Amino acid sequence: MTKTTLIENGTLYSPSGMQPDGWLLIRDGKIVDKGFGGAKPGKVERVLDAQGQWVLPGLVDLHIHGAGGFDASGKNLAGMQKVLPLHGITSFLATSYVTPREVLEQTIREMADVIHQQAFGAQIIGIHMEGPWLAAKQHGAADPALCYALTQADIEHYQQLAGGHIRRITFAPEEGNTMQVIPWLRDHNILPSIGHTDATYEVTRQAIMLGVNHATHVYNAMRGLHHREPGTVGAILDSDAIMAEIIADGHHVHPAMMRLLIQAKSPERVCLVSDAVLAAGMPDGEYPWGNLNLIVRDGTCRLADGTLAGSIMLINKMMQVLVEKVGVSIQDAIHMASTSPARQLGLNKGVLDVGYDADVVVMEESYQPQMTMIQGNVVYES
Ligand SMILES: [Zn+2]
Repeated sequence: MTKTTLIENGTLYSPSGMQPDGWLLIRDGKIVDKGFGGAKPGKVERVLDAQGQWVLPGLVDLHIHGAGGFDASGKNLAGMQKVLPLHGITSFLATSYVTPREVLEQTIREMADVIHQQAFGAQIIGIHMEGPWLAAKQHGAADPALCYALTQADIEHYQQLAGGHIRRITFAPEEGNTMQVIPWLRDHNILPSIGHTDATYEVTRQAIMLGVNHATHVYNAMRGLHHREPGTVGAILDSDAIMAEIIADGHHVHPAMMRLLIQAKSPERVCLVSDAVLAAGMPDGEYPWGNLNLIVRDGTCRLADGTLAGSIMLINKMMQVLVEKVGVSIQDAIHMASTSPARQLGLNKGVLDVGYDADVVVMEESYQPQMTMIQGNVVYES
């Protein structure tokens, strides 16, 4: 018998709005009942009073490289599992970046080892490899000399090193014979994500038809919108078959462009991602990251030449940017930070309803969690 927990007196999230005076009943790591008002279940072992604050499903970040001084690329990944619940993030894809082959191989092995350990804290759903299969022309902070076209042999090799834990890869579909690999990725439960790409509208359409159903940080490091050549961005805006992720830190994308994206695609097809690096949640200063030097100042993280190199904001605070600078409702912001990414990976999460995993966050209107629960266990309390 596991403990039955009641979270009461909360303003509960639902896709249609925030409803006050709600409660959730939790047993064996799942939500087993929910309701509103006075008629609560009688006998429970533990009662958590949400004190009228928001109660939302745990946040899911599909693109994060590090936080709180911990890098996802290697052994320190375990540290991220402890840090992320402080920000309401209950599950994530640990994201690697472009490094020389020997380094990347070692990194992927170490990440898989950490995943096997199943440590206490935020759940690592799997590995997201952001390249090296990127277009040199849209390399962002990656070294273009280390980028090359995706092949099936290469991804099979990395998937073997990862013990099957690679769940997503970012690649440029226009490079080499990459298009041929897309159906294989879908068949092998790897989310094919177009990104760091110079693909035209036509090439992007083809890639979507072949199975590409996710787009890596839309607008950033991809061919932009032009009225005669809609580009990668235009094809993504124009298709219901592809999920768009966006870095909503207020620095990577202008609020008007975020608003256009969300209006074109609806919150069902947009995910908030942090693209955070290890310096997220750390003071201003310089942080070495592989052979890069990250300079953190005024809310941004840049290379010496000014190129943005990931963000230092996590998705709980990005919800605040969406609400305050983009004009999105709080329920739509939660949808994009939890429901959409959970659904994209087929997780039993991201919804506060009977039968779903009890990944629950009690959050103040300052977007700071007061309590974070993962599968029924309280992993953080302020
Ligand atoms: Zn990234």
